[in-house]
Formats: sequence, structure tokens, C-alpha cells
Amino acid sequence: MKTETTIQGLSASLSPARSARKIIGFVPTMGNLHEGHLNLVREACQLCDMVVVSIFVNPIQFGPNEDFENYPRTLEQDSRALADVGCDVLFAPTVEQMYGNQPNFTNIHVSEISEDLCGLQRPGHFDGVAVVVTKLFNIVQPNFAFFGQKDYQQLAVIRQFVRDLNIPLEVIGVPITRAEDGLALSSRNGYLSEEQRQSAPTIFSSLKAAEAQLHSGRDLLAVLDTIRQTLTQSGFVVDYVEARSPDLQKISEFNQDVVLFIAAKLGNTRLIDNLHVKHTA
Ligand code: AMP
Repeated sequence: MKTETTIQGLSASLSPARSARKIIGFVPTMGNLHEGHLNLVREACQLCDMVVVSIFVNPIQFGPNEDFENYPRTLEQDSRALADVGCDVLFAPTVEQMYGNQPNFTNIHVSEISEDLCGLQRPGHFDGVAVVVTKLFNIVQPNFAFFGQKDYQQLAVIRQFVRDLNIPLEVIGVPITRAEDGLALSSRNGYLSEEQRQSAPTIFSSLKAAEAQLHSGRDLLAVLDTIRQTLTQSGFVVDYVEARSPDLQKISEFNQDVVLFIAAKLGNTRLIDNLHVKHTA
């Protein structure tokens, strides 16, 4: 595996593959890699001739009181894990390489989708994601780009601006990788104390309980209330518990497929998860 830290170096590394019309797959990450990230890379290796993974902690997607400074940076360990799963090129640029030393004058705002759920609690977050992902797409120019369904709203935002801006690549969504106890893997799980880690799987168990209740005919809004209560009783501070259609429209009845969304804090650690519940008529 090659490691490139500059845009020029990356272009030189990819140039032979581009000339040979090889299929390039791209997995953008912020590093501190776990099996969730590595499963995206495995999926990319299955579909593509050459796989590029980026590790870049993007300052413009963090709010002023968020964890940009403390975000875990574990490049050496990540690099070994990526080589083991078959990544061809690791792109790990500095902030200066990505943004120069001027502020960014261009913004990308995906209206409506970006303004709901996490967008309400994290204003500007998805704009920051959209800008960095677009820059990375232009730098890597992949045929396929892989994103996790764990960040369901982010995936929807990316699909939308790729369509709206005619970015010539295909976005692939990859299912959520979970720990054995159901907790969705996340770099932020490392912030949890032992006690908080014990409580954290309540997020997924309350989603699964909600799925069973919906299938037995319980009212959707009552089911959401039960999730809120369960989380609060387990020590979470709930940011939101919401139901949307798979394309993120508001719904109040279970008369079609529904995606249940949770964002909740344990101490200072904000965790998110979601579950797609099928409607079987
Ligand atoms: P991050 O490093 O958190 O920005 O995540 C990079 C990519 O990995 C994003 O597309 C995430 O959705 C994806 N990802 C993170 N955790 C998981 C997980 N547990 N399962 C599937 N994909 C994940």
C-alpha cells in the first residue's frame, strides 16, 4: 500500500490506474479505523480494481464546541489495518494541503435533507461534509464511493449533491457494522467510560424493541415515546428520536417502510444509530 499526503503525490500514484481505465473505489474516513470502516474497504475491494482510502479529520464539519481537537488520530495503526484488508492507496493530507491557508469561500448546502435531524443540532455540519467530500471526489476522481448507512442522513446528503451537481461517480451505501451487543461501531465509542459502554447497547435494543412493537400494530408516535423513555431511564440525554420515510420525509404512521433515528448523549459522547423497519402489508 502506498501512502500519499499531497494531492500531487496522489495524482501521480493514481495516474497509471487511470490510464489503464481501472475501476477506482474510494472510501473517505476520519481515521481511528474500526471494523465498520474496514468493511467499507472490503466492499470496495470486491467491486473495484484499485481502492483509495482517505483519512482526514475535516475541521469545517465540526462545530465550535465539538471534538475536533480531541478527535482520535491513530494513523500508524490505521495504516497497518488498511494494508491488511487490501487498500491500495492511503491518502492522508494535512489541513493545509486540503484548504491552503485561506478560508473556504465556497459552500455546498443541500437544503431540506441537511436541515433535519442532526442538521438541527449541528448547524453547518453537513455543509462542511459536502464541501470536503466534493473536494475529495475531485481529487480522487473515483468510479465508486462507499459510505456507511450508520450515517444515514450523511449518505442521503451525499447522494443528493452527487445527483444535483452531476458528479460522475456512483455512491454505494454499506450496512451498519455492530459490536456483538448491538452497539454500532464508532470512533466515538472510545470516549465512553466502562459504565457508559455497558449502557450504550440500549440504543440498538430500543430500536429492535420498537421494530417488534410496530410489527405488532402499536402506534408509531407511542413507540417513539417509549424509546425516549427507555433511553432517559438508562442515563442518556436524548437529542432526538424520530421516524422518517427512507427518503427522509416526515411520517407519523407506520403505513410504509420507516427508518427510526436516534441521537443521544452519554456524558459528553453523542451517539447516533438508525434502523430501517420494513412495512409488510
Ligand atoms: P467517519 O470516519 O466516522 O467519518 O466514517 C467514515 C465512513 O465510515 C462513513 O461513511 C461512515 O458512515 C462509515 N462508518 C462508520 N462507522 C460505521 C459502522 N459502524 N458501520 C458502517 N459504516 C460505518
